Amino acid sequence: MPEVIRHIAAMRTRLAQVRHLEMLKTAPSRSRLGNSLKASGIGFVPTMGALHAGHGALMDAARSECDVVVASVFVNPTQFNNKEDYERYGRNLDADVAFCGIHGVNVVFAPEVEEMYPANRDVFVEIPGVSEGLCGAFRPGHFRGVATVVTKLFNIVQPDIAYFGEKDAQQLAVIRRLVAGLNMPITIVGVPTVRDSDGLALSSRNERLTREDRQRAPLLYRALEAARREIENGVTDAGRIRARGLEVLAQEPSIRVEYFEVVDAESMQPVTRVAGRVCIAAAIWLDGVRLIDNVVSS
Ligand code: AMP
Repeated sequence: MPEVIRHIAAMRTRLAQVRHLEMLKTAPSRSRLGNSLKASGIGFVPTMGALHAGHGALMDAARSECDVVVASVFVNPTQFNNKEDYERYGRNLDADVAFCGIHGVNVVFAPEVEEMYPANRDVFVEIPGVSEGLCGAFRPGHFRGVATVVTKLFNIVQPDIAYFGEKDAQQLAVIRRLVAGLNMPITIVGVPTVRDSDGLALSSRNERLTREDRQRAPLLYRALEAARREIENGVTDAGRIRARGLEVLAQEPSIRVEYFEVVDAESMQPVTRVAGRVCIAAAIWLDGVRLIDNVVSS
C-alpha cells in the first residue's frame, strides 16, 4: 500500500474513534487514552550525562517501544545540595551524543542552565512524603530539584512514555507520584538496575572511586542481598533485616553508612514489619564518594 494511502487509512481509524463521543466525569486513565488515540509515539530518557550501560538500558527499552526516542543530557543544578559535587560531575557532551547514537536515540536535548532556569522565573515542584526519607533526609532540596527539572523536561519534550532506572528507587517513586498527582498524561517505566559482574550498580560516580575503594564497593550490594535473604527466610522484623545488612557492611571499616532502611516499595515510608513488597535501600560513603543502591523483596 502506498505511504499516503496508509496515512489516510490511519487517520480514518482515528477519526472513527473520536466520532464515537463519550461523556466522562472522571479523568480517563492514561492507558485508555493512549491506546485509542495515540501510538506509543515519543519515548523519553532524562539523564545527567556521563553515560554508561545503565543509561543505555533505558535507551534500549525506549527504542524497542517507541517511534521516536528523545534523551536529555542536563546536569541539573537545583538537585545538588553540594556545590563541589555539582562542579565535579562528569561532563563530556560529545561522548554522550555518540553514546546516544549507538543506542538508537533520535534527539538529544542538551540545554544550558539559562535555558532551563531563566532569571526571575522561579517555580518549584515539591512532593511531600515520598521525597522526605532516605536520600531526601540527607540531601535537602534534592527531590524538589528533581521534580522541578523533570516537570520542565516533560513539558518541553511532551513524551508519551518516560524511562527511569530502578537504581534510583526513591527518585522513581517521586516521579510516579508527580505524574499521578499532577495528572500528567505520561506512562512511567522503571528499568532494572544494570550491574557490573561483581554486583556493583553502574553509576557515573564509580569513576571517582580509587582502585581499592572500587574493590570494596560491591559490599553494598552484598549487604542489600543479605538483608533480602532474611526476608526470603521468613524474617519480618525490619530491625533484624537492617541489622543483617549493617553487619555485612561492617566487614569493611572504611565504609561509612549514611542510611540502610527497609521501606514500603511504593510510598518509601519506613516499615517496622514486612507485610507487603518492600524496598531495602542504602547509601554509603567511600572516601568522599557517595554510592546508593537498593533491592526489592518480592
Ligand atoms: P543520572 O544520569 O544518574 O541522573 O541517571 C539517569 C537515569 O539513568 C536515571 O533514571 C537513573 O535511575 C538511570 N540509571 C543510572 N544508573 C543506572 C543503572 N546502573 N541501571 C539502570 N538505570 C540507571
